[in-house]
Amino acid sequence: MSKYTAAKYTSPLLVNHSARSRLITKVLMIAGLCCTLLACSKPQTTQETPAAPKTIINNVNIVDPVDGLATQQQVVIQEDKIVYVGPVDETSTATNSNDTDHIVDATGQFLIPGLWDMHVHFLYDEALTDVMPELFLRYGVTSVRDTGGDVTKLAALREALQDTPTPRIYFSGPLLDGKFVVYDGSDPSRPPLGTGVSGEESAMATVTALKSAGADFIKIYELIDPATYNSLAAAAKQLEMPIASHVPLMMTADVAGPIAGSMEHLRNIELACAANWQDLLVQRQAKITGFTEGLGHTLRSELHSAQRIPAIKAYDETRCDAVLDALTNTIQVPTLRLNTVLMLKPFERADWPEAATALPQNVLENWQARINLLSANSLDIDHTFANWSQFLIARLLERGVPIGAGTDTPIGLGIPGYSLHTELELLVASGMSTQQALYSATVTPAEFLGLEGTMGQIKVGMAADLVLLSDNPLENIKHSRTITKVMSKGSWVE
Ligand SMILES: [Zn+2]
Repeated sequence: MSKYTAAKYTSPLLVNHSARSRLITKVLMIAGLCCTLLACSKPQTTQETPAAPKTIINNVNIVDPVDGLATQQQVVIQEDKIVYVGPVDETSTATNSNDTDHIVDATGQFLIPGLWDMHVHFLYDEALTDVMPELFLRYGVTSVRDTGGDVTKLAALREALQDTPTPRIYFSGPLLDGKFVVYDGSDPSRPPLGTGVSGEESAMATVTALKSAGADFIKIYELIDPATYNSLAAAAKQLEMPIASHVPLMMTADVAGPIAGSMEHLRNIELACAANWQDLLVQRQAKITGFTEGLGHTLRSELHSAQRIPAIKAYDETRCDAVLDALTNTIQVPTLRLNTVLMLKPFERADWPEAATALPQNVLENWQARINLLSANSLDIDHTFANWSQFLIARLLERGVPIGAGTDTPIGLGIPGYSLHTELELLVASGMSTQQALYSATVTPAEFLGLEGTMGQIKVGMAADLVLLSDNPLENIKHSRTITKVMSKGSWVE
């Protein structure tokens, strides 16, 4: 039984806070009672409320994902918004400081907008759930998209965290799968992140229920049938919920893609880019339709094993151009970190051991066992899909397909927060400029949720989610790791 049920969730981090909230509620109640007894009323004269204290960051080099570098700037934050960006201006009320303001001299440092991880799972391993928010913030990840998990638990988690330092959490609720469900909870590597949606008629009810439970978008999975996919998409559009999706195996990327706001992992695009894509599609449809008994996970694995590598070998560039040209309005979230994990072995990086110390002991032991197993079998691992994923980035850029940064943490040894910086490095190594990589982790995710007017850049009126770096990430994307301070919702994270 998990603790993430709406009524029961009590993170140890939150106990003091809840006690404080109860105290505040009591104070407010007593205050109300006194007012009633004394018949107090509002004062007749309007009193000026003192302006909230400001945070003033001086002499900072701004790295905006759209406008690029601006040196020697001043950024002023009040409450949770940016209220001034520009040169030091003595005449502006926004920049005039007083005693209660907090002034930071950031000479020589670089300021970027708070980063997003567009693909995380808080509930994949509940031994990690509690440490994930703090880890995201430590690594400058101030917003995340949870792309699959129980909607009630995710709503309870977000609610429980709302007054503590935490990234902004946007979630989809469960992976909406077909008659057979891949993440059905059948074994520890397949926790119950998914649910089956049976038929077109239940699509509207499903999406309505998710929306009223607090979901910000929906996530559609691989074993869904085309009619249900289209009905879910229509319901989501009607209820104004963005759609994240895998390419359903009974469809192709160029047909399913344009209907969704984002597609994940670049997975199954290879099936559409093959010269014999039509034959492959017919085979998949027959296999899924004829599958009457067994596990969703087994069904999907068999299809991937039978078709993925042959499809990559049958790559047809002209056909692939047509597929990619259909995706120019659909953000691709490549999760290169995940796709290449067996090839690039993040656990061999020099900074891995220190980053891993933040993981709970039981998780660490579990991961070490998997690393040992991987090392023992490394010669048998096929890297075709890992190489294909990296190859595809340059093709996406060439055809103008938008790309978003996501990691799938903690799946596949993804340390929360830390792994986002690996993703940025891999995007750059695969053909992105450093500025494009920053854009993919700031502006693009905001666009997915229609939040680009208020998040993702360093501009007046935008959310005060900011990361201060000691080195310039435009020079080398590895400098995104040189974090000196993180601001979330207008407050510095301790
Ligand atoms: Zn995922």
